[in-house]
Formats: sequence, structure tokens, C-alpha cells
Amino acid sequence: AGRGGCHTIRGAQIKELLQSKRNVLFDCDGVIWNGETAVTGAPEVVRLLKQQGKRVFFVTNNCTRPRENYVQKFSRLGFTDVAEEDIFSSAYCSAAYLRDVARVQGKVFVIGCYGVQKELLNAGVTMVEEDNDGPDVSIYDCPLDPDVKAVLVGYDEKFNFLKLAKACCYLRNSECLFLATDPDPWHPLRGGRVTPGSGSLTAALETASNRKATVIGKPGRFMFECIAGQFDLDPEQSLMVGDRLETDVLFGTNCGLSTMLTLTGVSTLKEAEEYKGSDSPEKKDSVPDYVVESITDFLEALEE
Ligand code: PLP
Ligand code: CA
Repeated sequence: AGRGGCHTIRGAQIKELLQSKRNVLFDCDGVIWNGETAVTGAPEVVRLLKQQGKRVFFVTNNCTRPRENYVQKFSRLGFTDVAEEDIFSSAYCSAAYLRDVARVQGKVFVIGCYGVQKELLNAGVTMVEEDNDGPDVSIYDCPLDPDVKAVLVGYDEKFNFLKLAKACCYLRNSECLFLATDPDPWHPLRGGRVTPGSGSLTAALETASNRKATVIGKPGRFMFECIAGQFDLDPEQSLMVGDRLETDVLFGTNCGLSTMLTLTGVSTLKEAEEYKGSDSPEKKDSVPDYVVESITDFLEALEE
């Protein structure tokens, strides 16, 4: 099947596709689990893929947990053979970028949750101390740290005006780096609710600073470079499976991987087909090569 063909495949075709690949990259939410519930059969799919000699990686834009906590989540949901080294989150990769690529000589001002802060700490990246600004601190007298050389923004349930104001001040210096963990606009929660994603907070900083953030997570290529650098991956030997067209599938296309949309998450087949006829190159690049209802469909292809 050709690139961006959007072909719905089953049993024997899935088997043939998997036989042609050495590496499988799974997005997490909407693919292998939904919140705290594993997608039916997903733990078995991962186990069988590994048993058949595939290298399996997890690529998530969710920056709320450090890698060590992801291992616990995998285990809690019945994935028994997933190691910390196989998990690449936007928080882990942001820390790797700051340490290995940007090599920031100074402090990072972080708007983000525990996952981001812990990964930066693990990577030895220096952050501005979590401030204890009282309720009366104003934008006129909140302290600014002269050593800040980068601003990193990600999902932050304690986001507030003062954080936005400080980031905005730091970003006035054109030499101050501006990074975002991921561009995700929103995420589904239980009961039909949604939560705003990192992308919505990044947009606030971008407007206030009149600058564009460098995005570390999907669809940016850095996450693949991070995995490829550690495990020597050949893109042509790799399949990216995701549920969101504009992050997961575009990421796969951007990195030269085969792409698969699974319909257990955010994007629909109808959207994928609409993108196929679009004039926008970005939308065209977000059309998957293959579509499955669920990765449960892999079972038929993997069981003898
Ligand atoms: N960021 C946050 C805060 C989330 O809650 C989620 C999904 O629940 C994601 C990102 C997306 O994660 P993934 O890339 O695994 O779909
Ligand atoms: Ca997802």
C-alpha cells in the first residue's frame, strides 16, 4: 500500500506489515490505554510483538509523569515487560534536548507539572526554584532570576497569570530559548470532559512574547532522533501507531516511518479521509498509510 493511502487492514495484511518491520512505536493514550484503562488485548499485543523479536517503544506527548512513574502505570495496567528505557515522553525528551542539544548554560524557567520538573532534575538541568509568591505579589515586584536562559512550557494545572507574566519577561531577551513540551490542544477525560493541553498554554506565551516555541514532542522530529540515537533505529524498518492525525501520524511522516491510525482515540476515519483531499501539505502528511479499529486487531496476526 502506498504512502498516506489510509487503507483499513486486518489479519493477514497486518501480519504482512508487521513482518516487514523491526520496530513498533506506540503512542500511549488512545492507543494502548484510555486514561486508567488498558485497551482490550493491548498488553498481550505488546508481549507477543516482543516475543516475536520486535523492538517496541512508547512515544507519548503526556509530560505529567517522569519515566519511573510510567513503568508503574504500565505494570498496573497489565503490561508486564515494559522497561523505563523503552518509554519516551515529551518531558523526558525536553530534558534530553536541554542537556544534550541546547546545552543551556544557566537556569530554565519551567511552566509544567511534576513530570517535567522531575525529568529536568534527573537530567541535571538547573531550574528556577519553584517560587512561593504569596497572593499579594504583583507583576511589578515578582522576582526575576537573571540566570534564566530558557523557558520551557508544558501541561500545568497550576498555570496562572504570574507565571505567564514572568515567562513573558524572560522571553523579551531574544537569547532566551523558548521550548514547548508538546503542541496538544486538549485531551479527552472521563465522562465526556476535556482538559486543555500544553499547546493551549504555549499559545498564551506565544501571543504575549510574539515568538514561536520550538516544539519537542510529536509531531516534531526530536523524539524519534532521541530513540534512534539510543537504539539505532532505521525509519524504514519502523511503524508508528497513533490515534491523533496531527501529532502521531504527522510525526511518523516527518520522520520517514510507516504510519497507522487506530480508532480507539481522538481522530476518526472520516477526518483522515477528509485530510486526503485537502490542499494543505500538513494535512496531507497527517493521512495514515494504514487504519485499524483497535490494536486488538494485531492479535489475529500475531497468534499462530
Ligand atoms: N498530555 C496530557 C496532559 C494528557 O493528559 C494526555 C493524554 O491523556 C496527553 C498529553 C497525550 O498523550 P499521548 O501522546 O500518549 O496520547
Ligand atoms: Ca494519543
